Amino acid sequence: MSGATEAAELQPQLPPAKLWIGGEWVESEGNRTFTTENPATEEAICEVASASAADVDRAVEAARSALEGDWRKTSARERGKLIWRLADALEERIQDFALVETLDNGKPIFESRYVDMPSVIDCLRYYAGWADKITGETLPLSGPMVLNYTLREPVGVVGAITPWNFPLLLAAWKIAPALACGNTVVHKPASLTALTALKLAELASEVGIPPGVLNVVPGGGSEVGGAMVAHEGINKIAFTGSTEVGVGIAKLAADSVKRLSLELGGKSPNIVFADSDLDAAAKGAFNGIFYGKGEVCAAGSRLFVERAAHDELLEKLIARTERLQPGDPLHPKTRLGSLVSKNQRDSVLAHVEKGRAEGAEIATGGVAANVEGKGYFMQPTVLTGVDNSMAIAQEEIFGPVLVTIPFDGPEEAVALANASVYGLAAGVWTRDIGKAHRVAAQLEAGTVWINQYNWYDAGAPFGGYKRSGYGRELGRQALDHYTETKTVFVGK
Ligand code: NAD
Repeated sequence: MSGATEAAELQPQLPPAKLWIGGEWVESEGNRTFTTENPATEEAICEVASASAADVDRAVEAARSALEGDWRKTSARERGKLIWRLADALEERIQDFALVETLDNGKPIFESRYVDMPSVIDCLRYYAGWADKITGETLPLSGPMVLNYTLREPVGVVGAITPWNFPLLLAAWKIAPALACGNTVVHKPASLTALTALKLAELASEVGIPPGVLNVVPGGGSEVGGAMVAHEGINKIAFTGSTEVGVGIAKLAADSVKRLSLELGGKSPNIVFADSDLDAAAKGAFNGIFYGKGEVCAAGSRLFVERAAHDELLEKLIARTERLQPGDPLHPKTRLGSLVSKNQRDSVLAHVEKGRAEGAEIATGGVAANVEGKGYFMQPTVLTGVDNSMAIAQEEIFGPVLVTIPFDGPEEAVALANASVYGLAAGVWTRDIGKAHRVAAQLEAGTVWINQYNWYDAGAPFGGYKRSGYGRELGRQALDHYTETKTVFVGK
């Protein structure tokens, strides 16, 4: 807690209103900028440079020249050391980075300081360790005198496009493996939350990562992101964001047969069986939806409760929910911050209204809130009387809104859970370990948590089934998405 207090009391170190290209701050074309706002106070934080397609060209040129120059000459072990140094440097400035993330996103300082930033550091260190351990194989083939081996080479210039909910963390999920594998990066952070990405790139230069290896070009989604996806000088796009934008990116990327990994939306089921520890399950359901203001791709936003335990579980959950009050994100005790923008809150409230019109009942919350008359806060919301086919149970809301649905037995639970276009994550709560594994095997989800929810680790792959995307981030699996495999045959 004291770290969060210290962070909140600092003067934030804000980046200049410039792009970071080729290891230096440069003006955007025409010196265009936009204002980034603190959603908790509705006040401007600072100006941010707004890139154009021509700026993307400059960033790609810098990234290509680093790829073919200094970065190629840097040994794998040295790359690992540099990434590790970046983690150390970030750790030294953890309070400042946490503060800037909270100001820009509205998330509680407790989360930025104790979850987001430590997870970024951990992710950098995890992939620093991989840098000199990415190897090919020697393969026994049918001919007796043929030597065959594979090489793992960088894919080239990676275009990383990231959302606003975990701004630096989701950037690190891409930048860390990309650099470990020897790629260079052009990163477009979400316009709402570009500050920490710019700061990280400058820090990378300070620790000795060569100019052009990491470039940051904030700006409009279709203008800057679209230019990156269409760019012939970019070899791979690593995208995290909405399914709708991801589909557009996939179509555009097809023209140049660009490598692509997509981490998209979700509407994740959290299944509570009557034989579970109901206190733990209520707490898990609560954290599963309200952590990160529910602006979490894998949020457990559909809660399925076995009928025999339904009323008891709901009572525990609603009591907890009513104790959670939105508060000043800079206060170290706050656990529910401001939604990221007015648009986002309006969109979440519109979903709740739609649910009400469909016949759902608001058990608690359902309304906007403010703190000292300001901000895009919202009361944490639980809806009952929901049917899984309602829009409120099918569409991603991306806010602190939980729908609850009763079920009878594991078969129905699995059928309801899988009745969704998404397949990002799922939770299962039961004391019957055999049932837990059987249900986990049947769920169409890239991650299943048993008797826990929202646990992530740099070493464990994360990604979606169905319209939640393809490709995996984190873990050893991510390395496959940042390398090409070359097969070499050697004759006599
Ligand atoms: P978004 O899709 O609107 O934007 C994501 C990024 O794409 C931003 O940087 C945006 O500027 C850029 N972009 C927008 N239009 C573009 C275009 N036409 N071409 C290229 N880039 C474009 O998403 P968001 O609102 O920032 O984030 C919320 C969404 O992200 C939710 O749907 C959420 O589920 C998803 N998300 C998924 C994961 C995951 O790991 N699966 C993690 C976090 C968020």
